[in-house]
Amino acid sequence: MEPLGQHGRSVDDVIGELEDKRHNDVRWEDGRTFGMVYDGGPEVREVAERAASIYLHENALNTKAFPSLGSIQSEVVGWTAGLLNGPDTASGFLTSGGTESILCAVKAARERARIERGITEPEMIVAASGHAAFHKGAHLFGLKLHKAPVNDDWTADVDAMADLVTENTVLIVGSAPQYPQGVIDDIARIAALAADADANCHVDGCMGGFVLPFAERLGRDVRPWDFRVDGVTSISADIHKLGYAPKGVSVILHRTKELRRYQTFIFDDWLGGFYASPNLQGTRSGLPMAAAWAVMQHLGIDGYLKLTASTLENADRMRDGIAAIDGIRVLGDGRFHLVAMSNEPNDPDPIDMFALGDALERVGWFHDRQTPPDSLHSTVSNSNAGVIDQYLEALRSCVDEIRGATTDDRSTNYATLE
Ligand SMILES: *Cc1c(COP(=O)(O)O)cnc(C)c1O
Repeated sequence: MEPLGQHGRSVDDVIGELEDKRHNDVRWEDGRTFGMVYDGGPEVREVAERAASIYLHENALNTKAFPSLGSIQSEVVGWTAGLLNGPDTASGFLTSGGTESILCAVKAARERARIERGITEPEMIVAASGHAAFHKGAHLFGLKLHKAPVNDDWTADVDAMADLVTENTVLIVGSAPQYPQGVIDDIARIAALAADADANCHVDGCMGGFVLPFAERLGRDVRPWDFRVDGVTSISADIHKLGYAPKGVSVILHRTKELRRYQTFIFDDWLGGFYASPNLQGTRSGLPMAAAWAVMQHLGIDGYLKLTASTLENADRMRDGIAAIDGIRVLGDGRFHLVAMSNEPNDPDPIDMFALGDALERVGWFHDRQTPPDSLHSTVSNSNAGVIDQYLEALRSCVDEIRGATTDDRSTNYATLE
């Protein structure tokens, strides 16, 4: 690597090189990436970009200095609480993403149990399908994590969760839907279990938060998962996924302000003065918050309904197409926007799903790999509108191409290691 140059470069030169750098990145603009970038279309991009350029330099560290960001935060949080049927007492904060929202929920559960119950060796219960961010939270905040298995339909095994409850349980997690197979856990039973244990129940709605409320309005069968379920104490919902805001924004909601208080860090013994921060960041960009505000205002309920309807139709079409191809199948009974595709395990010569993923990537279609079992993951969104037939054609020909072939590469990186 060249060291940083002594002399600066012109704006055009710098921007030109940045544009060039992107050439090997996944091509999300043409709808061939199932995840990672969620594109609400040209007008949604425009409103986000214009909001971003206004708020690029603002700092949400101190909303007294930037009251606009204080009101942007409370409006976005309030609208989200409304979508998730939060009671009047519901309150929350914006964070930088799903992981940070989940970390805040874990920390709040730990603090509540320490202060209200005197728990010093906190434990949490998460199904094998629960997002890796919960393990990160256990690791960072010193909780013991009990992992519960999933049922045959990939939902959390709540009986197994019940067996894992101890007097130190501070948090039980359900997902709506879980990421790997896209199914919604039995949140009502998980929340009741948590309430019986006097513990928090966090619902991971990172993926579902900006889909399920609209799916329900569209008449889809959505099992109860939000604040209407007694015992649910917090929910995370990512606006930077199917909320169609650019990266860097998620909502963490608590049922009450009292529950939210356990999330906030307050320190009053510093030469710098009184310091309080609601989430894990200090200095905090106003850009993602303002962009999220703008996208939500631009879309409104009607806009989200339209995007959700087309997304769910496309996901259904994808599931039907996969089911019609010999040798592959959809895992579980996911009905929303997540599709996990695996092989027929009883085939004498089962398709190598990772070889299939490589073949699809060679012709420009990008999935995340996951295991167990070996499968290819799709998060369908408005980004993929209009390409599903093309995709299914590519899928059919890739399956034919790689029948009998295998790859030695078994990695499932969902990761940045360097
Ligand atoms: C994406 C996701 C997360 C983590 O969110 P990030 O924004 O990637 O940090 C957590 N849970 C589920 C179900 C997700 O889909």
